[in-house]
Amino acid sequence: MAAVTVGVDVGGTKVAAAAVDGIRVLERVERPTALSTTEALVDQIEELARAALAHAPPAAAVGIGVPSQVDFATGKVVASVNIPLAGVPLREELGARLGVPVFVDNDGNCAALAELHMLGRAWVGNLVMLTLGTGVGGGVVVDGEIFRGSSGRGAELGHLVVQADGPECPGACPNRGCIEAYSSGLALERDATEAGRRNPRSALGRVVAEHGRCKGRQAVEAARAGDAEALRLFERLGTYLGVGMASLMNIFEPEYLLIGGGLGEAADLFLERAEEEALSRALPSIAGRVRVARARGGAAAGVIGAGLLAAGEHERGSGTRPQMTVKEGAL
Ligand SMILES: [Zn+2]
Repeated sequence: MAAVTVGVDVGGTKVAAAAVDGIRVLERVERPTALSTTEALVDQIEELARAALAHAPPAAAVGIGVPSQVDFATGKVVASVNIPLAGVPLREELGARLGVPVFVDNDGNCAALAELHMLGRAWVGNLVMLTLGTGVGGGVVVDGEIFRGSSGRGAELGHLVVQADGPECPGACPNRGCIEAYSSGLALERDATEAGRRNPRSALGRVVAEHGRCKGRQAVEAARAGDAEALRLFERLGTYLGVGMASLMNIFEPEYLLIGGGLGEAADLFLERAEEEALSRALPSIAGRVRVARARGGAAAGVIGAGLLAAGEHERGSGTRPQMTVKEGAL
């Protein structure tokens, strides 16, 4: 896996691309996500991938992580909530545009792949990763390999139910009481805004009065400043996260259960509570064996994981298929 690749991390707020060598980021570019149309976003992904390719020739392949459900074999996005990529054959389209093999995967899988490699190339264990961002994503590593389900749509850990009659899931999900309904940026914004409306003279109330709502980032600021109500929101977020983590511990018995994503950067406000809740609920024979920790990759995990995806798949020789599909389709 010595080849330099390009990793692209497509998020709901920003798109980042970088030339990646193993877990080392060589050069990184970033822009606010072009959300206006599908075409604008695909053009933007192409532009950023080209910029990263230009920094590190000759890159062998390009990997793209998207916050969407992906048919892994074809690299087609089958469902996407926060970005306009649903139905786009991203692997085929960008493979044709860029002239190098392109691989597409769910961003939670990419993040888990980055963490796996940060544990060392020789590590072939079991790992579960939750990425807390706008929504809640996840990745599962079984015996050193990413588990994707039958077609690549699997391991949607954010939709693990932790309360049967809980709030409606903010994702494109018919369920309620999912982890995403309690421990995501969207859930935090919903709860902080409601708390601010209920108590206009509180710190959250002042934010809501000024902006009409309280974003996750502002709730983090209020909690860090010691606001009691904001701290209670994070305690609740952590409690429900812990309920879900207990199930993940019991199901997978992973060596590591890692918390990452943008909201994961504020893990100091809720991870201790989550771990305490999880350990009190998981089967005792399992609870003590799982290491709960913050993900190491930080903000760069997405591009690193996408780059590693491209390197791994290219090495497996799965890079020629989309090119052939394009030719066959054109005939
Ligand atoms: Zn859900």
